[in-house]
Amino acid sequence: MNLNSAITELKGVGEKRAKLYEKLGVKTVGDLLEYYPRGYLDLTGSLAIADARTDEPCAVKAVVTEKSPTKLVRRGLTVTKVRATDMERDLLLTFFNAKYIVDALKIGKEYIFYGDFTKKLTGGEMNSPLVFPAEEGGFMPQYPLTEGLSSKMISAQMRSALGEYGALVEESLSTELLEKYDLCSKREAINSIHFPPDEETLERAEKRLIFEEFLEFSLGMSLTKGKTRLANAPAFKDTDVSEFTKNLGFELTGAQKRVIADCLSDMSTDVPMNRLIQGDVGSGKTAVAAACMFAAAKNGFQSAIMAPTEVLAAQHRATLEKMFAPFGIKVGLLTGSMKQSEKTAVKAAVKNGEITVVAGTHALIQDDVEFSALGLIITDEQHRFGVRQRLALTQKGGAPHTIVMSATPIPRTLAFVLYGDLDVSVLDEMPKNRLPVKTYLVGPELSQRAMSFVRKFAEEGKQSYIICPLVEQSEEGDLPLEAAADLAERLTGQELVGCAVGLLHGRMKPAEKERVMEAFAENRIQVLVSTTVVEVGVDVPNAVCMVIENADRFGLSQLHQLRGRVGRGREQSYCILISGNRSPETKRRLEVVAKTNDGFKVAEEDLKLRGPGDFFGFRQSGIPMLKMADLMSDVNILEIAKKAAADILAEDPRLDMPKNAALSRRVQKMLEAAAM
Ligand code: ADP
Ligand code: MG
Repeated sequence: MNLNSAITELKGVGEKRAKLYEKLGVKTVGDLLEYYPRGYLDLTGSLAIADARTDEPCAVKAVVTEKSPTKLVRRGLTVTKVRATDMERDLLLTFFNAKYIVDALKIGKEYIFYGDFTKKLTGGEMNSPLVFPAEEGGFMPQYPLTEGLSSKMISAQMRSALGEYGALVEESLSTELLEKYDLCSKREAINSIHFPPDEETLERAEKRLIFEEFLEFSLGMSLTKGKTRLANAPAFKDTDVSEFTKNLGFELTGAQKRVIADCLSDMSTDVPMNRLIQGDVGSGKTAVAAACMFAAAKNGFQSAIMAPTEVLAAQHRATLEKMFAPFGIKVGLLTGSMKQSEKTAVKAAVKNGEITVVAGTHALIQDDVEFSALGLIITDEQHRFGVRQRLALTQKGGAPHTIVMSATPIPRTLAFVLYGDLDVSVLDEMPKNRLPVKTYLVGPELSQRAMSFVRKFAEEGKQSYIICPLVEQSEEGDLPLEAAADLAERLTGQELVGCAVGLLHGRMKPAEKERVMEAFAENRIQVLVSTTVVEVGVDVPNAVCMVIENADRFGLSQLHQLRGRVGRGREQSYCILISGNRSPETKRRLEVVAKTNDGFKVAEEDLKLRGPGDFFGFRQSGIPMLKMADLMSDVNILEIAKKAAADILAEDPRLDMPKNAALSRRVQKMLEAAAM
């Protein structure tokens, strides 16, 4: 019997349920014990009906007095009413399609009911409450679920797992550490995180587990980095890029000059640069990247720039080609969907050094891409890439310098989790000739007017984007969303008759997409109807108007990114957000975007509303999931854990002292999981 026992060893877990657990990443009893709740139902406090408040989730304790027969109200809907009392006030409970729950309730027995409560004269009412035996109480763990598994089932199995296997939980931190940082034992933490007796104990358990998580993560990052540090980066001797920047056709902003200087100074030494460049959309990150790549080329090294989409990679290639042509620096493109023969040719040219700068998507990190002398790697709009992909690219050649460029402000904690420790430069100044984009929020009744606006621009030789959400039916069924293709067709036939309307969406073949983007860049397409594929990075300064249909379907930061596609030239630009959603909350959110052009402010609001997980698309980006830690609020523990990790490694650089053995095993396991 050990923690690696399959979860089927537990009572009540058969093959079928084990499959469900597997979906949650839980295969062994040990996995289950470390499957932490995401929250708790608070069944402490007063459970009297008189103290419950309307329209809040409340817990009340009451004795069941009467059950009405289940009624079939209409096909597929049954209703059962249950009366209960706490001897002082009465409670009327209504259950829908829940005969099995009601059948299990016993008249004369006391239960805790949890749910939204409505106060009435003689007591109150609840619809579809959760039911717990009265003796349970306390904090009820709520787990992240998958269909077929409820928190109730998981907690029942958790109880038996803790009972049978709890004593086998291994302490991973040395006694020294536990004392120094005043942490409770692992066993205690695991017990209390699932079934906390009170708030204080819960907090102690959380602190211990968050600390452990950050500590292991920090150690893992340091150990991995230590390996790459062994190789030296190329030191660029010649860091004069003035001939290049003079040729750009615009004066660099002060911020651009400063950030370029930061990078050049880093790259002049053989310690690998690891720098994050943050700058709002339109702040001119590409020119900064190009200047750095120019420096690499001047010193005889290749550069790679990775973009999250094919459209953007192709655009980088085009922009860089133009910038570098006068200097005889050859630029190539490598994306997953290119023809095999083209790919082979580009790879050969990268390998023999003929191509100096290569733009690409994740195809760039595939194993068979070899460089002759890779000196610099730049990843654009980084948070869409996973740590794993980034590590893979870093392993391409010795230890190249790396730059990460992001338009979204990244909280320090998240930056650490994504990139390990890195230096940050901020592009906090917009090019001078910019006018802020004028943004309006309107209802669908004005969509005709928006289109005549677009038409007027087309007649003046200026271009527009019309953005619509992905092809999908809205859940409520009341707003059938128009697919991009249908919309383009309708507009060509009606509102925009006579304009050159183009279409861009994610399901098109990459070559087709590229053709459309090229036509738009050359103003052969005047109005581009598109899904969010234009969201990042696309740069067509002659586009001055963007209409966003069903704007409420987008996240705020996403709207800001989209809007960043206009306002790139000297002309006044416009963004029209169309939304038929009448909820005041939605309106308030959209008004944030309409009122400010500051991406950091928009992102802040977005973070407040959605939380970092959602905001950064955790799951897609493959960040090793931090199970406990909250990236926004646990900064303090992170700092302490980082310090602790540094202390540990100072004494035991490879974690092979016996007191660190358990910790070392966990770190290895984490690294293996992250590399999978
Ligand atoms: P982002 O930071 O969003 O990636 P880009 O690098 O695409 O921004 O730059 C946006 C536009 O601004 C481009 O057309 C670029 O040529 C232009 N640009 C960049 N820097 C300057 C500058 N200092 N002065 C004027 N225009 C600039
Ligand atoms: Mg960009």
